Amino acid sequence: MLVRVTDGWTEVLRRREAGSPAGPYPVPVQHLLGEMVAAACLMQANIKFNGALILQIFGDGPVKLAVAEVQPDLALRATATVTAEVSPGASLSAMVNVNNQGKCAITLDPKDRFPGQQPYQGVVPLFGDRREKLEQLSEVLEHYMLQSEQLDTRLVLAADGEVAAGLLIQRLPMEGVGNLAGRSARQADEDEIGLNEHYNRIALLASSLKREELLTLDAQTILRRLFWEEDLRLFPAVTGEAAPHFACTCSRERVGQMIVGLGRDEVESILAERSDVEVGCEFCGLQYRFDPVDVAGLFLGHGALPPAEAGIQ
Ligand SMILES: [Zn+2]
Repeated sequence: MLVRVTDGWTEVLRRREAGSPAGPYPVPVQHLLGEMVAAACLMQANIKFNGALILQIFGDGPVKLAVAEVQPDLALRATATVTAEVSPGASLSAMVNVNNQGKCAITLDPKDRFPGQQPYQGVVPLFGDRREKLEQLSEVLEHYMLQSEQLDTRLVLAADGEVAAGLLIQRLPMEGVGNLAGRSARQADEDEIGLNEHYNRIALLASSLKREELLTLDAQTILRRLFWEEDLRLFPAVTGEAAPHFACTCSRERVGQMIVGLGRDEVESILAERSDVEVGCEFCGLQYRFDPVDVAGLFLGHGALPPAEAGIQ
């Protein structure tokens, strides 16, 4: 599976530039976030999960958080929180894994959650089997797929200011359609890990794809270049409205719930210092304002709502 996100990705960057006081992302952060967007699109399209797929990196360096979220219709949004200077050409570990404490989380949040249902989340460290720091997001995600799904996966990811692109090669499970969505480890799949010669050949060819090629070439050219000796069957590309596109799921109602979640005392102390409560969406840059009358209405309507139910998504 191959993805090239263009308009949806540049919209993420444009909104950051226009809406955030922090200004545009440093180039290495832009590249990381773009790779996360491409990977999240590939994983969402791969599992066809009815809910949001959220890829997060919790960093222990200058980048504290990076998030890419993709809905079943491939609507996407992404943001990163940068709290200190990121040097040009900074590596993955220099951004998010300085002390080897960084983590990567993949969350599947069902669309229609029944009360009390928790989203599924898998977490992996940003180091390999010998605790060596991983310097490619693709390696981190390959580890995740192997550990959580017992499936060999090869990912090639690349991004710049125009394109977020990725190529996913995965060994098909021995039975069923299980992949990221299939929870149970099957013995037959475990036995195949690393041993399937067809998968190994294809994966090796895929990893010869260069960053520049992935960013600039169309799918047909890439396929022919990599797999010219293989019997190829190209599926039609998903284009137009069904293709990955930017959209934010924030709403005044959700922000209101988050304000209620802060608790009445906290919100009143904010209002004691300023005329209204203002919350900006990190993903799309929209500003939500609640004056004291709005705030009073929020607490009237949700007086009994426990904070845990009021978290913004
Ligand atoms: Zn938003």
